Order: sequence, then C-alpha cells, then structure tokens
Amino acid sequence: MEKNRRKETCCGCGACAEVCPEGAIHMIYDREGFAYPEIDKSSCTGCGRCKSVCPVKVNGTGEGQNTYFGAQAKKKQLRYSSSSGGIFPVLAQYVIERGGIVYGAGYDRDMNVVHKGAENYAQLEGIKRTKYVQSNMEGIFSSIKKNLVGNRWVLFCGTPCQTQALILFLNKKYEKLITVDLVCYGVPSPVFWKKYVKFLEHKHRGKLKDFCFRDKRNVDNGHMRSYWIDGVEYVDSIYQDIYCKLYFKNYVLRPACYNCKFCTVNRNSDFTIGDFWGIERVKPELDDGMGTSLVIVHSDQARKIWEMIKAELDWFECERNDLLQPRLLEASRIPRFYYVLVDLYRIMPFRLIERVMNN
Ligand SMILES: Cc1cc2nc3c(=O)[nH]c(=O)nc-3n(C[C@H](O)[C@H](O)[C@H](O)COP(=O)(O)OP(=O)(O)OC[C@H]3O[C@@H](n4cnc5c(N)ncnc54)[C@H](O)[C@@H]3O)c2cc1C
Repeated sequence: MEKNRRKETCCGCGACAEVCPEGAIHMIYDREGFAYPEIDKSSCTGCGRCKSVCPVKVNGTGEGQNTYFGAQAKKKQLRYSSSSGGIFPVLAQYVIERGGIVYGAGYDRDMNVVHKGAENYAQLEGIKRTKYVQSNMEGIFSSIKKNLVGNRWVLFCGTPCQTQALILFLNKKYEKLITVDLVCYGVPSPVFWKKYVKFLEHKHRGKLKDFCFRDKRNVDNGHMRSYWIDGVEYVDSIYQDIYCKLYFKNYVLRPACYNCKFCTVNRNSDFTIGDFWGIERVKPELDDGMGTSLVIVHSDQARKIWEMIKAELDWFECERNDLLQPRLLEASRIPRFYYVLVDLYRIMPFRLIERVMNN
C-alpha cells in the first residue's frame, strides 16, 4: 500500500457520499477493502455538504462535562454474551422495550462485518460483541434519519468516527436518539479479515458460521476466541489466533486510525463505552473475570437514560484517572515498515503468515 495523505485523513464512514444531494460521491474500496470517497467532478456543485459531515475535518471532541462509571449488567447472561460488562445490551433493551431500533455491527451471510438494525432480542444477538474488522455503514445514516423522523427510538453504537459522522449527518438533536461510541483500538482491513475467513474454511473444509473474538467461557475476561465451521466449534486463546495477534500488533489497521483524534475522554456522543482496565485495582470485589464496562456519560440525554437503566446494573462512580487506558490518551502507533508489511500480508498465503508469526 502506498503512503497516501488522503488515506491518513479518511476514516471511511461514508457520510459524505450519503449526504451529497447530487449523488456525486461514491465509496470505492482499495486493495485492503477500506472505503474512500471518489467525487464525480462533473456532478459536484461545490455545496460543501460533504465537508460539513466529515468526522475527521469537523471538530469532534465534546466539551468535557463527563461523569465516569464502572458497570456490569446484573443479568449474568447479558454480561456473558457481550464483550465487556454488558452496558451495550442493557442500553439496547431500553430502546427495544420502547419499540425502537438498535444499530450495531454484525456479520452478513458471507461473514463481512456490516452495520445493521435490530428491532427485537433475536436480532440483537447478531449485533452484540466486538468484531475486530471495519464495519460497512452503507445506507445506515439515511435509515436512522428515517426512523427518527418517524418518531422512533434509535440507539446507535459504533466506533467514535462513525458516531461523530452520524451526529454531523443528522445535524439536529432528536429526543429519541441515543448515540454510543466505543473506546477504539483501530479497525482492521476487511480484505485481510476475508483472507483469514477463507484460510479457516480451507483448513477445516467447511463454511465459517460465527466468530467470537471475546469468548468468556473460561472466566478470563474474554481472552479466548471461538468459531463454528460446519457444526464444529473451535476454541483457543485469543493470543494464539494469528489474525488477533496481527491486530494487537497494530499491523492491519486503517491508515487513519494511527492519527485518530477520538482517543480522548471527551466526545460529542451521549455515552462512551469500553473495557474497564484496572478494575482489579479500583474495585477488586467486582473483578470476577467476566468483564466490567467503563461508561462515560457525556450529555443530559445520557444522564436521563442512565437514571432509567442503572437498576439493571451493578455500578460505581469513579474518577477520570481510574478508567484511563491507552486508547483514551493516544492513537495506536503505526508500526515500522507498515506500508511494506501491508503489501506483504496481502500477497503472502495465510499458512506462511501463520508460520512467520509463530516463529
Ligand atoms: C474494533 C474495536 C476496537 C476496540 N478497542 C477497544 C479498546 O482498545 N479498549 C476498550 O476498552 N474497548 C475497546 N473496544 C470496545 C469493547 O471491545 C466492547 O465492544 C465495549 O466495551 C462494549 O462491550 P459491551 O459488553 O457493553 O457490549 P457488546 O455486546 O460487546 O457490544 C459491542 C458493541 O460494539 C459494536 N461493534 C462491534 N464490532 C464493531 C465494529 N467493528 N465497528 C463498530 N461497532 C462495533 C456492536 O454492534 C455493539 O454495539 C473495541 C471495540 C471494537 C469493535
């Protein structure tokens, strides 16, 4: 992959394409499967709407009127089936009970990661849990606007850049909208993910049906990963998984993630959620290995919702410094030779990548 200034300043949310009144912007995928806007100059009127919704260009960090919490869903099953303390499914429940729709990232039939809406608990299962792949947001901004104009409750959860893009796209406060952004390490290449999917399918001679990046069966805070191929489940430590190893070494992130400006506690969303690192130090009695969520409450809307849902949680208020972690302070570091390595990983067979990583 060639070093390219444009790539370092585009998070690929697609809001510019969706807002363009002339339909002059199309999202084009590069060799890593990352989407970038291409403008048809002959249709562009220069209205500037695309710039006004760009989360990278427009100031995206909030005022800092924050309250900080640690939280765990009281219902064990909710916590077990989510990646950290289960704050997301508790918020989702609030919206579904009110006939609303919850947007998050799930797999499609071919194991691509895409944002989609869930209107009931069965659908919600598909958008719970962390997927370490950039999700495709095509059509989501417009769907959400439609739901809100129809006076429906909407919960959106995504990376901070996706969430800020939604806020800019809507350009108006809606009483029934709850925006939730994640503490985010960075998003890996969809093409590299698909290469891994193919590798697993070839290895086990079947079709991959599900992949869980944070499996909690060993009560070790999700440090296992599991997947299903043709009815057989494969479980291992997340640290033995080649795809995850490369992710945690920062090798396959989107170029813009290395310059991410959302690595701070201040956001424009209602809530920021993530893993409560250091829970063993701050509240050892809650450290049962099943995950604790960090929750940053930013807005009046969030304060109202928090009052409504807190009975569903074991929670405590804390100081900002109690929940700080690397991705609330600075972006993931770009590895040396990143652009060379990305090119190499694209052409190397996964068998070989596995061998290199294991040596
Ligand atoms: C790519 C990525 C990197 C992350 N990095 C960190 C980190 O460095 N530090 C940290 O504390 N937390 C990080 N998180 C957040 C953490 O893993 C949990 O997702 C979060 O704490 C919510 O967990 P939960 O138990 O409340 O609910 P869950 O049920 O686990 O909810 C997960 C939520 O994230 C959404 N989601 C899942 N995958 C994606 C995706 N690819 N793109 C957008 N949204 C997605 C789901 O739709 C759901 O809304 C990251 C998450 C992702 C997706």
